[in-house]
Amino acid sequence: MAELAKLFGALDFAAQQHIFQRRKGTFNIPYINHPIRVCYLLIQCGETDPDLLIAALLHDVVEDTQVTLEELTQQFGEAVSRIVMEVTDNMALPKEERKRLQVEKAPYLSHPARLIKVADKACNMEDLLRYPIWWSKSRKIAYFQWAYSVFEHCKGLNEKLDAYFLDVYQRGMQQWESQ
Ligand code: NDP
Ligand code: ZN
Repeated sequence: MAELAKLFGALDFAAQQHIFQRRKGTFNIPYINHPIRVCYLLIQCGETDPDLLIAALLHDVVEDTQVTLEELTQQFGEAVSRIVMEVTDNMALPKEERKRLQVEKAPYLSHPARLIKVADKACNMEDLLRYPIWWSKSRKIAYFQWAYSVFEHCKGLNEKLDAYFLDVYQRGMQQWESQ
């Protein structure tokens, strides 16, 4: 019960931080849907570590909101904030540089950070297949290919999660090849 309370504490915190944010795409889906999906995917794949699941719920709060590392550490502890910082891009850098660094740093990430990376990319790719968005086909393909290059360095920790990522990847590529 204490663990459930912690998990919902993180969910409530993330919901408050992302409250006015929306996902990219024509449906204006509330941002919080995304961290919920990432966390739930990890649960569905058999992951149970509370720090991992809490970090999954919080994985975009430092990157995309005003929350600081200090605040995160104070509320959720060192272990959680360390994982979140590992999956947080430096938003002061240009986008292409951030994308390059994600691939470059991926082999050195901790296990929980690698699991979140795979789940995060799989959920983003799933969203690109499921919901309407203004991106061109080539931009979607470029996103899938970049996600795959991060995946290559992060895979191998959870068979079910890897299989899920590959299934989404192949569905996307097959769909676009036949168009
Ligand atoms: P972005 O970085 O602009 O967007 C991807 C990120 O947006 C995701 O990683 C995700 O991050 C977040 N996100 C929010 N809503 C969604 C959603 N509905 N579906 C998926 N992700 C969502 O895209 P990229 O720069 O990665 O673009 C892909 C490729 O296209 C790149 O190779 C880039 O060079 C190219 N490009 C093309 C442009 C054009 O054609 N006009 C413009 C810019 C890039 P999170 O998990 O943090 O929410
Ligand atoms: Zn994310």
